[in-house]
Amino acid sequence: MNKKIFLNENEIPHSWYNIVADMQNKPLPPLHPGTKQPLSPADLEPIFAKELIKQEVSEERWIEIPDEVRELYKLWRPTPLVRATALEKALDTPAHIYFKNESVSPVGSHKLNSALPQAYYNKMQGITHLTTETGAGQWGAALSFATSLFGLKLDVFMVKVSYNQKPYRRSMMQTWGANVVASPSNLTESGRSILAKEPDNSGSLGIAISEAVEKAVQDENTRYTLGSVLNHVILHQTVIGLESEKQMDLAGEYPDIVIGCFGGGSNFSGISFPFLRHQLVDGKKIRVIAAEPASCPKLTRGVFQYDFGDTVGLTPLLPMYTLGHDFHPADIHAGGLRYHGAGTIVSQLLRDNLIEVQDIPQLETFEAGKLFANTEGIIPAPESTHAIAVAIREALKAKEEGTKKTILFNLSGHGLIDMMAYDQFFSGTMQNYKLTDEEIAKSTSVLEKIV
Ligand SMILES: *Cc1c(COP(=O)(O)O)cnc(C)c1O
Repeated sequence: MNKKIFLNENEIPHSWYNIVADMQNKPLPPLHPGTKQPLSPADLEPIFAKELIKQEVSEERWIEIPDEVRELYKLWRPTPLVRATALEKALDTPAHIYFKNESVSPVGSHKLNSALPQAYYNKMQGITHLTTETGAGQWGAALSFATSLFGLKLDVFMVKVSYNQKPYRRSMMQTWGANVVASPSNLTESGRSILAKEPDNSGSLGIAISEAVEKAVQDENTRYTLGSVLNHVILHQTVIGLESEKQMDLAGEYPDIVIGCFGGGSNFSGISFPFLRHQLVDGKKIRVIAAEPASCPKLTRGVFQYDFGDTVGLTPLLPMYTLGHDFHPADIHAGGLRYHGAGTIVSQLLRDNLIEVQDIPQLETFEAGKLFANTEGIIPAPESTHAIAVAIREALKAKEEGTKKTILFNLSGHGLIDMMAYDQFFSGTMQNYKLTDEEIAKSTSVLEKIV
C-alpha cells in the first residue's frame, strides 16, 4: 500500500467541472440590489472580467482550463493524495482516511487554484489593476502572487484585526508586490462612513469587500476579484476533486464520505462536487459534509434568503444561507471561515438535502489539528482543522459501529503562518464561543423577505 498517491503533470485536468449542469433544481438568480430583478451579466461588467461573468452564469458541464493556467498549475499540481495511516492508527479505527494536500501550493493553501485563472482572464481583457479583500490573508497572498506573474497591480483591503495579528501574511503579499491596506480605511467612502461611526472598528470581510468593490468600479481599467462564494471561484477549485477522483481510483477505493471546511464554500465544493456528480448522474450514494465553526454557523443555523455579499450593500443580492450581512462573528482564529454567507450553489444543494453540515467548537478543532500534526506531521491551518475534526468524528463513529468507511477530506492549507493561534491554544486561554438563537434572530431580522 502506498502512503502517497501521485499523478504526473499530464494528468492535471484539462477542464473544470460545473455542477450546475447536473443540478435538478438550479440555484435562484442573483438580483439587482435596486430593482430586485434578476441581474443581467452586463450589470456585472464594471466589477468583474467578462470571461469570469460568463463562467458565473454558465450551465456548461465542462469548462476548459486555458493552457497558460494549466502550465502555471504545474508549479505545484497535481497535489498529493495521502493515506493518513498514522492518524488511523492513533484513532484505532477501521476507517481508511485520505486527505488531499492543498497545503503544498507556493502560498500554502488552495486559494491559488482560482487566483491564477482570475488574474489570467483579467489580463487577457486588458485590465491593468485589481482590487480584493482578505481576512486571514490567504486569498490576498494567492492573488498577490498571481498578479505578480501576470504583471497586474493589486490593492488588498485586509481586515484590520488580521492586519495587526498576522503580520507575516502581510509581508508575503508585499513580497509579491501588492499594496496592502488595513480595512476599514480612509481610502473609500465605505471605509470612511464606518470609521466616522466607530473609529476603533476592527474590520470584517464584509466591510473589506465594500471597500474593494467601491475602489474597482471607480476606474475603467480596474476590476474586483473574490476568493470564495461565487460560482466561478468554486468552478476553478474543482481541480482538487477531479485530481482526487483519479487518485482514489489508483488507490482502489471510493470515498463513502467527503469532507471540506467551510468559509464561503470554495475548497469544500472543490473537493466534493466531482464526487457528488456521481450521485447526481449515476445515483451513487455518498455523504458530503461541510465543516463550519460553531461561532459562524450560517449553514447549520442561518436562514435561506437573499442577502448582500458585503456589509454596506454594494454587491448583488445572492440567494444563500446567511447570518445576515451585519453579522459580526467572534474573533476565532480560523479567519477564513468568518464569513456571514454561503455560495448560492452550495445553498441550493443544502436546501435539496444533497449535502450535510456539522458545526465544530474552536477547541475541538485545535485538538484535532494537534493530533493531525503529531501523526501526519503537517501543522494544519486553523480553517483546515475543522475538516480534520469532522474526519475524526466520522472515523470514531465507524469504530463504534465496527464498519469500514473510506473517508476523504481536503487539507486546504498549512498553519505555519498561524502559530500565534496554536500558542493561544497551548496557553489555555483559547475559548469556545456560544452564539444564542436571539443573536442570530437579530442579525437575520434585517433581511428583506424575497423568497
Ligand atoms: C480561505 C480559506 C478557507 C475558507 O474558504 P473556502 O472558500 O470556504 O474554501 C479554508 N481554508 C484555508 C486554508 C483558507 O485559506
